[in-house]
Amino acid sequence: MEKERVIIVGSGPAGLTAALYAARAQLNPLVIAGLMVGGQVALTHEIENYPGFFSSEKTPTGPELVSLMQEQAAHFGARFEYDEVIEVDFSKGAPFYIKTYGKEYQADAVILTAGASPKHMNVPGEEEYIGRGVSYCGTCDGFFFRGKDVVVIGGGDSAMEEGIFLTRFANKVEVLHRRDELRAGAALQSRAFANEKMSFVWNTVVDEVVGNGVVTGINVTNIKTGEARTIKTDGVFVFIGHYPNTKFLEGQVAMDEHGYIITDELMRTNVPGIFAAGEIQDPIYRQVATSVGQGSAAAIQLERWLSAQE
Ligand code: NAP
Repeated sequence: MEKERVIIVGSGPAGLTAALYAARAQLNPLVIAGLMVGGQVALTHEIENYPGFFSSEKTPTGPELVSLMQEQAAHFGARFEYDEVIEVDFSKGAPFYIKTYGKEYQADAVILTAGASPKHMNVPGEEEYIGRGVSYCGTCDGFFFRGKDVVVIGGGDSAMEEGIFLTRFANKVEVLHRRDELRAGAALQSRAFANEKMSFVWNTVVDEVVGNGVVTGINVTNIKTGEARTIKTDGVFVFIGHYPNTKFLEGQVAMDEHGYIITDELMRTNVPGIFAAGEIQDPIYRQVATSVGQGSAAAIQLERWLSAQE
C-alpha cells in the first residue's frame, strides 16, 4: 500500500490545475491521470475561449494547452501515474483507500476530477460500428473521412464545433437534430449556418446505424411527420452530451440523479477530506476556464482542510 498525502484523480484542466496549486502548497500531490493526460480537452482541436492563450496567427490546440498545464504542475512537483482508479473506500474517513489497476494507495485527502464521457445514442448498430464509421471525436477521427460524407448527431455547441471542424475533411456534413432549432450558442450557430459544406435535417432521430462491415447509412424518422428513411453516409459523429465518470464512486460520495458529484461552494463533497472539481461535478458550465477555476478552488480548500486537521 502506497501512502500519499494528496491524490488527484483525473488529469483534465481541473485535475492539472488542482495539481499545480497543491504542488505549490508543498503537498507533493500524486495525479492518477488515466491512460492519457488531458481528458476531453486533449481530444479538442482548437480552444478559442481560454483567456490568455490565443493569437490571431494561431489558436492553441487542446493537446498543446494540456501539455503546458501538465508541464507547469510537474515543474512545481506534481507527480503523474498513468493508471485508472477502479475502486475506492471513503467510508472510514482519512486515510482514504484508492485502488488502481496497478496499485493500492492511502491518501490523507483526495480531489476527484475524473470528468465526463460522451453519451451514446443506444440504437442498434451504434456499438457495432464504433471505429468503423461511428465516432464521438472529430479531432481524433476526422482525418479518416477525407472526401467522404458524414452526419453529425446533436444540436449543441459540441455538435456545431465538431461539425465545422469536420468540414475540413469531409465532402459534406449533414447535421441531424431532434428539434427544429439548435441549442448551440449564437456564434457557433452563425458559423455553422454560413458553412457551405454543412446542411441541417430537423426534427429527426436516428433509429439504427447500418452498414456492411463499415457504416453505409442511418435509418432515421422525422418525429413531426413520422416519415422513416435511410440517409446514406460514411460516418456518424455523435455529440449528444455527456455523463459523469462516477461509476467507481457509487455509494462513496453523494451524487445527483444523473450521477454528478454534489459539491458545495468550497468544492467539498459530503465526505470531509474529499473534494471534487470540473465536469465530474459540473453539468452546467463545462468549460476549460470554469474547470480550471474549480480545480484551483478545490486545491485551496483541501490545503486548508489538511492544515485544520493538524
Ligand atoms: P448539450 O449542450 O447538452 O447538447 C446536446 C445536444 O444533443 C442537444 O442539442 C440535444 O438536443 C441533443 N441530444 C441529447 N440527447 C439526445 C439523444 N438521445 N438523441 C438525439 N439528440 C440528443 O451538449 P454539448 O453540445 O456537448 O455541450 C455541453 C456543454 O459544453 C454546454 O454547456 C456547451 O455550451 C459546452 N460547450 C461549449 C463549447 C464552446 O464554448 N466552444 C464547445 C463545446 C461544448 P436538445 O437540444 O433537444 O436537448
